[in-house]
Amino acid sequence: ISPVDSPVHALRRAVAEAPDTTFLAYFDGRLTYREVDELSDSVAGHLAARGLERGDRVAVLLQNSPLFVLAVLGAWKAGATVLPVNPMYKSGEVTHVLRDGEVTALICSDRAWESYLRETAADSPVRVVLTGCELDLQTRGDVRVLNFERLPQAPDADDLLTVARAGHKAPEDRDPGPSDVALISYTSGTSGAPKGATNTHGNIMYNAERQRTGLALPEAPVYFAMAPLFHITGMVCQFAACLNSVGTLVLAYRFESGVVLDAFAEHRPHYTVGPSTAFMALAAHPSVTPDHFSSFVNISSGGAPVPPALVEKFRAGFGPYIRNGYGLTECTAPCASVPPGREAPVDPVSGTLAVGLPGPDTVVRIVDDQGAEVPFGEQGEILVRGPQVVPGYWRRPEATAETFPDGELRTGDIGFMDADGWLYVVDRKKDMINASGFKVWPREVEDVLYTHPAVREAAVVGVPDGYRGETVKAYVSLRPGAEEDPDAFAAYCKERLAAYKYPRQVEILPDLPKTASGKILRRELRHRSQDGQ
Ligand code: ATP
Repeated sequence: ISPVDSPVHALRRAVAEAPDTTFLAYFDGRLTYREVDELSDSVAGHLAARGLERGDRVAVLLQNSPLFVLAVLGAWKAGATVLPVNPMYKSGEVTHVLRDGEVTALICSDRAWESYLRETAADSPVRVVLTGCELDLQTRGDVRVLNFERLPQAPDADDLLTVARAGHKAPEDRDPGPSDVALISYTSGTSGAPKGATNTHGNIMYNAERQRTGLALPEAPVYFAMAPLFHITGMVCQFAACLNSVGTLVLAYRFESGVVLDAFAEHRPHYTVGPSTAFMALAAHPSVTPDHFSSFVNISSGGAPVPPALVEKFRAGFGPYIRNGYGLTECTAPCASVPPGREAPVDPVSGTLAVGLPGPDTVVRIVDDQGAEVPFGEQGEILVRGPQVVPGYWRRPEATAETFPDGELRTGDIGFMDADGWLYVVDRKKDMINASGFKVWPREVEDVLYTHPAVREAAVVGVPDGYRGETVKAYVSLRPGAEEDPDAFAAYCKERLAAYKYPRQVEILPDLPKTASGKILRRELRHRSQDGQ
């Protein structure tokens, strides 16, 4: 397979080499590479006929379904930039994206259009609307989340599937080049208002190619899309990487443990990637068995801390080794990962699991507050330079200059590197807890909590404290059937951590709040503790 510079060219190459290979598998339905090419050509032709020009912005609000793929490839073939938007966003959040991105075309589910997007889009630059029922293509009756009915077609929108099947020709002169902006990815907002990172086609294909050469998957690999495709990890490590390997991408609408395990049993995937919370949820499902994971050659987790205890519990219970990977929206998903055949070391002092080794063309530096590089083993901010780093934020020159001085990404994460080049992420700079002047990194406390057999999920935040300034509070959810007193967790941590680090307060919740991509939202827990809930 020869390297290509955009997902559109990767699709063309796949059609030339293997037109009848299944590209998308969705419940009982399948679409080949040739079919996806023809259907997305037709979407592109429609968008161009409706006046969309090169560089215009198209917002796509869809779950993991074939419609998502047709919408994105169709927009790219029309020369447009895609703004993938979390379909669970509320009206105000979507309004921000539509206005900030000056979006002229919107592709969404018919249900979302009817329930709130029509109103949201009314006061925005949107003038072309395509809607579709994501479950129209194939559904399986016994799946709870799929209990939808097709709505009548809205008079003010075109039906995406009808448009895709109309046989329109894609415009000829619109193929994107490597420096064209493929995506404006609004950061997931774990720590503030979303800003749009401009991922180019070249950024995406660099990481897609790294995945193909770095994962040691077999020919015609089967990918399972566990991460949402609207998030950069799903878009790059699943969709673009699968396309670049001429593989099959299994889609399951959205994450639901039972549905995911059924899809594993049916499609026997070789690879998936997801946040560690997704693996915890699968491991806790009543019908999970090691056989569900027996087809996997590789499993990755990234986008959030991976507790070493989870990796060990998962391996002991189900077989596969979960590979850590570190990335940000601003570096188009991963910039460091664990190569096949290797295992990430655990730092003997802090107990932190390494996130991986930086890629071959990627330079990672650790610097102190003055910007000077620190020696191996010392903590500082992680800076990244490489072909996956975006050129900047969409129309935010100040934020771009601040986050990408001289093209190098300031991640806002604190980490260190060992003498062998393994990178460790300590935590987000802004999540540090200052307890009587002592630094406490939430992740270190969370890692200890995860070694407790009753813990399913754990998150640690700083809460205001009259005496210490801030004190450590832990939120915990329990494994099915487990019963435990909050004080027992505090005592457990006290035995294993310095006195200023153990959580003085512990609260048990049925579930911890998460982003749509599965990351635990410490920010929401901090608000919760401040509201006195
Ligand atoms: P926002 O920028 O709005 O706060 P976000 O940071 O969650 O949102 P992403 O780009 O999705 O947006 O996440 C990147 C962050 O996720 C990194 O900066 C880092 O803090 C965290 N992260 C990613 N991978 C890992 C990992 N393997 N271990 C620990 N933390 C990780």
